Amino acid sequence: MNEDAALHSFRGIGKKTEELFHKLGIDRAGDLLTFFPRDYMVYPKPLESTDQLEPGKKQALYGFFKKAPVNHHYRSMDVTIGYFYIGSRGEKAIQVFWYRMPYLSRNIHIASPYVIYGTVGEKNGDLRFEQPALFLPQAYEKETNRLLPVYSLTKGISNQKMEKTVEEALNLCLPLKDPLQKEEDLLKEAGLISYEKAIRNMHFPESPDRLSAAIRRFSYQEFLVFFLSVRMEEKGLAKEKNNLVLDRHETCDRIRENLPFTLTKGQEAALSDLNADFAGPTVEERLIQGDVGSGKTIVAFLSMVRMVENGYQSAIMAPTEVLASQHQKTFQELIDRYQLPYHIAFLTGSLKTAERRQALFDIEDGTADFIIGTHALIQEGVSYHKLALVITDEQHRFGVRQRDAFLKKGQHPFSVVMSATPIPRTLALILYNGMHVSTIRDVPSERLRVKTAVIPDGKRAVAWNFIRKQVAAGHQAYIICPLVEASENLDQENVTDYGKNLAEYFKEDARVGILHGRMKPEDKDKIMTDFASNKIQILVSTTVVEVGVNVPNATVMMVENADHFGLAQLHQLRGRVGRGQWQSYCILINSQKKNADHANKRLDIMNRSYDGFEIAEEDLKLRGPGDARGIRQSGDSPFTMADIYQDSNLLELASIHADRILEEDPELSAEGHEGLRRLVDAKADETYTNL
Ligand code: ADP
Ligand code: MG
Repeated sequence: MNEDAALHSFRGIGKKTEELFHKLGIDRAGDLLTFFPRDYMVYPKPLESTDQLEPGKKQALYGFFKKAPVNHHYRSMDVTIGYFYIGSRGEKAIQVFWYRMPYLSRNIHIASPYVIYGTVGEKNGDLRFEQPALFLPQAYEKETNRLLPVYSLTKGISNQKMEKTVEEALNLCLPLKDPLQKEEDLLKEAGLISYEKAIRNMHFPESPDRLSAAIRRFSYQEFLVFFLSVRMEEKGLAKEKNNLVLDRHETCDRIRENLPFTLTKGQEAALSDLNADFAGPTVEERLIQGDVGSGKTIVAFLSMVRMVENGYQSAIMAPTEVLASQHQKTFQELIDRYQLPYHIAFLTGSLKTAERRQALFDIEDGTADFIIGTHALIQEGVSYHKLALVITDEQHRFGVRQRDAFLKKGQHPFSVVMSATPIPRTLALILYNGMHVSTIRDVPSERLRVKTAVIPDGKRAVAWNFIRKQVAAGHQAYIICPLVEASENLDQENVTDYGKNLAEYFKEDARVGILHGRMKPEDKDKIMTDFASNKIQILVSTTVVEVGVNVPNATVMMVENADHFGLAQLHQLRGRVGRGQWQSYCILINSQKKNADHANKRLDIMNRSYDGFEIAEEDLKLRGPGDARGIRQSGDSPFTMADIYQDSNLLELASIHADRILEEDPELSAEGHEGLRRLVDAKADETYTNL
């Protein structure tokens, strides 16, 4: 089949380039079809004067050449240098450089209008264009009406190369086989376009509306596959009888009476919901939704103590090693503070062999009362002694259930999923089909509200200065950048360079650390430990700190390119500060130039509201169709394209459709379901391997 064609059979792709594509997870022609752009770009309107030129930005200029550019030969390379006169009268000129394109000097028409487009450079204070694309004005005009795909790339593959390769793959694979070919009626009912049309418009949108239609189609597909995967897994798993004997509650009561704070109403309610579950006839699953900082950890701890004091094991599973080791520390502190005779086993993927062996022993023979870790907890080779409760913290992957995994281990624990993703109850009920839901809406009242400010990136120095003062007062700060390293086609801050600049700026006044998902687990852990113990004062990080991290001494959360983030995500980030008794601050840098006002308006919601549910709703209202949706950066989102808020009607429909499909073909084994079945299997795998 053509979809299986190897990449080196493509024009202009040799073994070396093929390797680069492999790095992006692209092994065959078919993989290219679903390697969707991470963003889309529109060519900007051409400028007619130099005033608005900004170094580092991609810009277009309208003008002409008075003389033919001249070819030079430097270090065995052809360099063509010309002067481009800007505007129709051409009062000012900018120097333009082209490499390895000597033919240009002959082909350019003197005194006739052109548009040049590229990144504005700067050398010794002079602005210049290097290697700009050259257009006739009419041709450029046409381009400005198109949405151009922007792909996530790796060094050695340019965006243009990717575009060409995708196009070739598309032509090679025609006609495309729709994985939902059997579901034509359902697609029609949902008003969705065909697979082939959708694929084409994802890569090369004919218009913004067509792009929206394509995204809608794949959002639906994503939901549908999700529901099919969850439901097929759940099917046939009858509820277990609850055999737990939970007579003792003295320890639990004693801790509650001696907490340094009083529990909020929401925390109390969640705990009594859990206790009612524990006393019921069957083993249940519960979702606890609580905004950032609402104090879910103590709820987890108390319900786990309840199990442990009755002789059972209980486990808590976190999505990241950073969060798992933070829980370990918190739990150990609580054990010490209340002098509890309990033992913790800690299990993650990066333990040394001896440590791992010890942890496994402790878990198996019952020495371990609390078991804390990552998804390593459900992997093979872990046997439990008397596991009664499993809590999954910060569950962003909706509907994920560990029940199956533990059943295979012969255990029937109660299962609790804790999430800070604010979703309306109706949606939660669909996404977590059949789970009970508790919602903690209040946050501890004595806490001071985080003061929030939105500022343009030109005022960054003010923010840094502010951080300097906070650090001098003994506090700490987070600074979030969207990228790990500098990127060729993305104009956003990156942790690596930012960290270096900041360390230079602060010199002896503060220690700066960097954190991102590509670091080794032990390095991440070291940085987080150093930050938690104030050995590092400023942590420059990607959004890996978004999830669950608790360092109460940190009082500043500064977010670079804040306009680029979803508000729900910013809300999560802001939730990392304001956790102690000190006034805390959230500084959002708006780096939008073109649409600064719109971005400001959106970000300003953060100023007005501190309620995650409300923020998510407001964000939704302000987003235009196709605007900032889908194509997301964050790896935490369970859906790459679909947006549960914006597409809530599609979500509902997909849920109903999934049931209908399974009613007719429970195993998805009917003819014509091969493609769909493959997608569902891949989804199920991802659930267990991605964390
Ligand atoms: P999240 O719900 O985001 O996981 P955490 O459990 O990390 O929040 O709690 C955040 C902070 O609030 C912790 O330092 C915790 O000790 C504290 N905390 C929890 N409950 C209360 C409460 N009822 N009153 C005051 N502080 C609380
Ligand atoms: Mg938490």
